[in-house]
Amino acid sequence: MNLPDLTLTNLTLTAARAGLAKRDFSAAELTAAHLAQIEAGAHLNAFITVTAEHATAQAAAADVALAQGDTRPLLGLPLAIKDLFCTAGIRTTAGSRMLEPFVPPYESTVTSQLLRDGAVFVGKANLDEFAMGSSTLTSAYGPTINPWSTDRPLVPGGSSGGSVAAVAAGMALGATATDTGGSIRQPASFCGLVGMKPTYGRCSRYGIVAFASSLDQAGPVARTVADTAVLMASMSGFDPRDSTSADRPVPDFAAACDRGVRGLRIGVPREYRAEGMPAEIEALWTQGLAWLRDAGATIVDVSLPHTKYGLATYYIVAPAEASSNLARYDGVRYGLRVPGEDLTRLYEQTRAAGFGAEVQRRILIGTYVLSAGYYDAYYLRAQKVRALILRDFTEAFAQVDALLTPTAPSAAFALDEKMDDPVTMYLNDVFTVPASLAGVPAISVPAGLDRAGLPLGLQIIGRPFDEETVFAAAGVIERAAGFDTTPRRLRA
Ligand code: GLN
Repeated sequence: MNLPDLTLTNLTLTAARAGLAKRDFSAAELTAAHLAQIEAGAHLNAFITVTAEHATAQAAAADVALAQGDTRPLLGLPLAIKDLFCTAGIRTTAGSRMLEPFVPPYESTVTSQLLRDGAVFVGKANLDEFAMGSSTLTSAYGPTINPWSTDRPLVPGGSSGGSVAAVAAGMALGATATDTGGSIRQPASFCGLVGMKPTYGRCSRYGIVAFASSLDQAGPVARTVADTAVLMASMSGFDPRDSTSADRPVPDFAAACDRGVRGLRIGVPREYRAEGMPAEIEALWTQGLAWLRDAGATIVDVSLPHTKYGLATYYIVAPAEASSNLARYDGVRYGLRVPGEDLTRLYEQTRAAGFGAEVQRRILIGTYVLSAGYYDAYYLRAQKVRALILRDFTEAFAQVDALLTPTAPSAAFALDEKMDDPVTMYLNDVFTVPASLAGVPAISVPAGLDRAGLPLGLQIIGRPFDEETVFAAAGVIERAAGFDTTPRRLRA
């Protein structure tokens, strides 16, 4: 091997693929370098399960295939898999004690497509319990630390915090993630990476542990817009095993990244000028608009009038669906079982021991808003407001091709900062939740650093199934920002 290890782990996925094709290094060397980074960065707690042996075998097989001229798009490329995707024969915990002993007998559709395309899985990444959270603080396996932390430990964001920390720390070239209300975009923003939440229905939900089924969407995180586009191509596509999967052709996402924005109309939703937004984030947003304008786009003010109801709506709909989805963890069929003197006690004791405080809170809220006396006042009303939020987007997209907003109202916060008050934590989702409720695609692109040297992302939101325009605008921001995705401490 003629390159130092850090050089191998700081590559983009696209560059690593080219390096493998040219035989600059082998898949075995590439995977070994990433596994070494996982060991060196064990204190970051990015993984719940490391699959080193499995990955080494996959890489060896990839080298054989490469030698035979195999050109599958992800052949030999090390990826991290959020521990919410079922992986056949590999423990899948969803960040919960409830699933600590769970080894799925089957593979999720998304991960099976990545395997079909030759990817190497280095491990199962940490996350908030059942993907409920914005920090990984709710994981039953302890929080993940943001690789950008300097003097005090910072959160990587969440729920896909392990996925982004793994990529930022050079433990994987890309990762799978899921987004129900921001869990791909907000952590990508906190860790200086690109994170894409596709249109609802673009990636199959089959084999992904369910949180809120009408919102859950899988998507990729990686160092560049082009890398996420490559991963998206493998992850997307119709799946008859998911009734909400969209039967649509998968476009050439990678080609869209270089398309530019000349002639496009980019909207600025005025309701996103949140009160108390840090000046640096406001300034970065203005900068992003200037970059798009310089690249030939027209900037247009638009209104999404129901934005202010987004968080309240989300925190009714998501817990309602979660309370229903999580009813299956009863101690009888699979996962944790705490025996009791009768069936009711078994249920109660299993659920009390298996679920952490945040998950229990969501189940209580969800059960409450669905209960006979409150259904109309909360759940039904939230469904109506959700329809209005979608209508806001539909009307805006009659005037513009995409929207630009900040991804999150802050940079990464400290591990001990927001623990005590769940509502403060929920407020972090203010810019990401509306696109989730509307089911439209949205990406976070790292665009700059705050005064403390921490990454800040900008969000581009697009029309349903028009990820291509989202990638095109993201490419412009990426090229203009020239952001270095390697945390300072890890630079070669
Ligand atoms: N932070 C949001 C929540 O706690 C979103 C989580 C997610 O997208 N999975 O519900």
